[in-house]
Amino acid sequence: SCTPPFLRRCISVHSEASQGRDKKSSVNALVYVANKENAAVIQGPLNGVSVAIKDNICTASMPTTCSSGMLADFTSPYDATVVDLLQNAGAHFVGKANCDEFGMGSLNTYSIHGPVINPFQSKLDKGKWVDREQRSAGGSSGGSAAAVAAGMCDAALGTDTGGSIRLPASYCGVVGYKPSYGLISRHGVVSFADSLDCVGILAKDVATVQRLNSVISAFDPRDPTALPVEIRRKAYDAYTTRTPGSFEGIRFGIPQEYFPSELSPTALEPTSRVLETLKSLGGTLVPVSLPSTPYALSAYYVIASAEASSNMARYDGVQYGLKVKPEPSALEGDASNRGKVDIRDIYAQTRSTGFGPEVRKRILLGTYALRADAFDNYFQQALRVRHLVRDDFNRVFRVPDARFEESIPVETDCNSPDIDFLVHPTAICPAPLLSEAPNSQGSLDTYVQDVLTVPASLAGLPAVSLPVSSESDSGERGDGWPMGVSIVGQWGCDETLLNVSRELA
Ligand code: GLN
Repeated sequence: SCTPPFLRRCISVHSEASQGRDKKSSVNALVYVANKENAAVIQGPLNGVSVAIKDNICTASMPTTCSSGMLADFTSPYDATVVDLLQNAGAHFVGKANCDEFGMGSLNTYSIHGPVINPFQSKLDKGKWVDREQRSAGGSSGGSAAAVAAGMCDAALGTDTGGSIRLPASYCGVVGYKPSYGLISRHGVVSFADSLDCVGILAKDVATVQRLNSVISAFDPRDPTALPVEIRRKAYDAYTTRTPGSFEGIRFGIPQEYFPSELSPTALEPTSRVLETLKSLGGTLVPVSLPSTPYALSAYYVIASAEASSNMARYDGVQYGLKVKPEPSALEGDASNRGKVDIRDIYAQTRSTGFGPEVRKRILLGTYALRADAFDNYFQQALRVRHLVRDDFNRVFRVPDARFEESIPVETDCNSPDIDFLVHPTAICPAPLLSEAPNSQGSLDTYVQDVLTVPASLAGLPAVSLPVSSESDSGERGDGWPMGVSIVGQWGCDETLLNVSRELA
């Protein structure tokens, strides 16, 4: 009864969409379908490439809702830099992709547009499509991953703050690339946690990811965290000595902490298959240890929530987005206030109505972590863990981090395993059933999904999740469901990382 009209509209659009019987409409991947007449006609290297844009990336020709009631009626007055670059290169947009509200979530269930349904829900059995129980497409870039997997577009832009590209890529069986922090512009991308947010690419194959990346990976003066050209160059040069087509001399580290007790046996098998391939192509496998990994998840959720609580403050019902006007007070206060609306009531009503439960939870958590009396124990502590995680990576990589060369711990240099890339499962299990997705009152279960992806985010490192199907598994949970294997490299090695991933896939 208290659902505002725009939310009711969204909910009914969703239920109509999910009743469609064909695979495309029942996936609920796109929340806005682009108008064909407005399709770009610019000649460029991306002619003929169709792209879906995650709905937290601003587009002037399509709405940007961030899957939130707060922005349900919002269209940005300008395009994000990445959108501009793609458009100028001749790409055409199919629409905006569903996501978790403001990027917060791992299962794409926190969305005013309804959950995204994993396109693998249907299975070809003796020539017939058999519906299986619906599974999550993963999040928060679930719409982007599902749109690619269901063949609605060649590629999709997503954002990855703690795993939001890699996790849905793993669940949906597509390639997901999270770049080094600061290589792709965040100008026009709605902020969740600025020190972690990255725009990245999802596609069926690595070659398509590379085509888009060569267009959007560019220094942007409008992004204050964009890394300057000299530092990009330095990192690139440190990695380009490899002979294409051969993994001879390349050292792949297998971090022992990335095989935690939560890891399902179905996740192990694809990883071992990839390791076998790496070996057969001449690569050297090296067991390594990244001892701070177990603390990364907690540190991530403190830092991401703290930054989110500050970013969400701009949705105040005054400047733009939803505004819920409370009834003027008739009773209290002196006569001059009677009949007036208190601005604090506007804030409170707007924010309680517009934000969904997960966003509200993060605002509370983050605000608490930043309070004067909790700051040292929570936020500062999380920042310390972030440094330790970064030091762990620097200790095992052959090449130093081009951004902070001076900060490498000297005492461990002689023992470094000198690895080029790390290899590990992307997720602890295949796509979870939607019916089992915890709600906001639920346990920490959802957060555990990110345990293997957040360390690279905290350190700002590039990562590619490659799809491997767990076909040989006969158990209920595996049974052909896709699983991702991640390759992670030192900051700035993106080009080599993508080449290696392409040759491996
Ligand atoms: N699942 C993580 C979170 O909810 C990561 C989200 C993301 O990468 N955008 O914070």
